[in-house]
Amino acid sequence: MRLLTHTAFGLFLGTVFYYLFNLDIGFILLTGFAAFLPDIDWIMEFSWGFGSVHRKLLHNVWFLTILVFLVLFLFRELILVLAVIVGFTSHLLIDSFTVTGVYWLYPIGKYHLKGPFSMSRAESKSIEKYLQTAFFTSSGLLFFARQILLPGVFSYEGIILIGALLIAGYYLFKAFGKVLERIIRGLGLL
Ligand SMILES: [Zn+2]
Repeated sequence: MRLLTHTAFGLFLGTVFYYLFNLDIGFILLTGFAAFLPDIDWIMEFSWGFGSVHRKLLHNVWFLTILVFLVLFLFRELILVLAVIVGFTSHLLIDSFTVTGVYWLYPIGKYHLKGPFSMSRAESKSIEKYLQTAFFTSSGLLFFARQILLPGVFSYEGIILIGALLIAGYYLFKAFGKVLERIIRGLGLL
């Protein structure tokens, strides 16, 4: 999956936690950022000359475990650990729907999860665009739902307000996704 699809799904799951557990907005952004981390093995393979490591070396629960200990050691904040776990796992989850799949316990060959989604197919880009739009709009709506009491959809006012929030939410979360994408590329990590 593409970078923006991963950050969009990470932002979405981050927003679900934000909504359910009254968390800080920083939690959402960190989850969106952590959702890209496994793909550092892409640049390791294609720019840093590490050989055939993409979808293997960092796409597994062992690297997640190392990250968890690293974050605990550096920041001693359980909430940051949770954001990393949610974001990172979201990445492995949606990569598991691709034909290449994910070796969750690499180098142990068992637990190779894969699916039907092929990124080389012509329509894959537009499918990912639809996914991103769905993640951005639903994240936005959940985000606003914590700030204001949403009206019922069985009135004109309700329909108009929810429609406006869906559009505003889409642009807000797309902006979050784009900022994260710029930071990740700026850091030279993809
Ligand atoms: Zn990946």
